[in-house]
Amino acid sequence: MKKVVLLGATGSIGGSALRVLRAHKDRLQLVGVAAKGKHRELADICREFKVGHAVLQSERAYIEAKKAGDFPSSTQLNCGSQALESLASLPDADIVLVATVGTAGLRPTLAAIDAGKDIALANKELLVLGGAHVVEAAHRKEVRLLPTDSEHNAIFQCLERSPIDQVDKLILTASGGQFRNTPKSELSQVTPEMATQHPNWSMGPKITVDSATMANKGLELIEAHWLFGLEADRLEVVIHPQSVVHSFVQQIDGSILAQLSPPSMTFAIQHCLLYPDRAPSVEPTIDFTKALQLDFEAPNYARYPCLELAYEALRSGGAGPAIYNAANEVAVERFLAKEVAYLDIPKIIEYSLNKVELLVAPSLDQLLETNNEARLTAQSLKL
Ligand code: NAD
Ligand code: MG
Repeated sequence: MKKVVLLGATGSIGGSALRVLRAHKDRLQLVGVAAKGKHRELADICREFKVGHAVLQSERAYIEAKKAGDFPSSTQLNCGSQALESLASLPDADIVLVATVGTAGLRPTLAAIDAGKDIALANKELLVLGGAHVVEAAHRKEVRLLPTDSEHNAIFQCLERSPIDQVDKLILTASGGQFRNTPKSELSQVTPEMATQHPNWSMGPKITVDSATMANKGLELIEAHWLFGLEADRLEVVIHPQSVVHSFVQQIDGSILAQLSPPSMTFAIQHCLLYPDRAPSVEPTIDFTKALQLDFEAPNYARYPCLELAYEALRSGGAGPAIYNAANEVAVERFLAKEVAYLDIPKIIEYSLNKVELLVAPSLDQLLETNNEARLTAQSLKL
């Protein structure tokens, strides 16, 4: 029995993780869950899975939950950031699936690593911000850092039998987002309602907007850099609209390995939670007796300036990725609040990358300061 803590249980990844947990009750036991504010949903999860420990990040939600008596008496409910860190390092747990969004998961992840837990990491923003520290801590504590983002999970699976010094490059696939074929002249009219719908994947609102701008792939390039240790010139992106091939590993002899599965996160989540074991999937895999078309094309960088800016941030090193991530987060928040236009997102990122001081080898505290400063800078740009 592997004991699992799930941070971000009420989100899109959280929901897929619950499907995996439900299907493999004989191997996986949910011992702790956390969410930001959806207390009723979190209480339902605690009831269904008989979870012993729960944390609501929001104090208001915690007070409401206490008043409503939502949670079963067998669940110990806490609130706040400190409680999140304690949950992530619960003595009982073997593995922590980090499925929060944004950078709030960084400290809990470091606490979990410090307590010797394996990490299944879906939350890419925290790795983009604190990758150097997370990877170093995982190495020092000899815990597994299992990539749950589908592209990185694919690469991880392909790399299992090929040492990194035999790898020429990693090629991340990208769907190209919901506006891949929209005439450029119409992109100025894109609304939050349009940008939060994705053709292949059902995901949270932030990552869905990031998929449209391809800032998601930009964050994933940086994520790949931290997870697999390759520099920007050995990381490539190819557009693959069907999202069936989740990434490629090109070997030095020209052979290219790939991992395929349907566009659902349950495959990568299950791979991480059961690792190194395997078990039947919770939903059907690809059926090659049915028609299947796989297309690939090079991305047009002029169409996706956020992607080019990510390469720039990665090449500049130091605090560059942290600035990129923070500026993108604010740009998406401002766009979803209808305060700026869709095409303003890359402008906000570029402005912040030019304006915020680029520290060379920042400490964790310096990165958190850079994160705050870049957020304020991105907020301050009048458009
Ligand atoms: P989501 O918005 O659907 O869910 C986020 C979850 O995190 C919710 O449970 C929310 O309550 C919780 N949360 C948010 N802020 C928190 C805080 N401050 N403290 C504690 N909990 C907090 O997001 P999602 O789509 O599930 O994505 C989660 C992460 O996984 C993101 O980093 C995303 O980039 C990454 N990811 C998602 C997908 C996908 O298919 N959805 C795929 C790959 C990677
Ligand atoms: Mg991904």
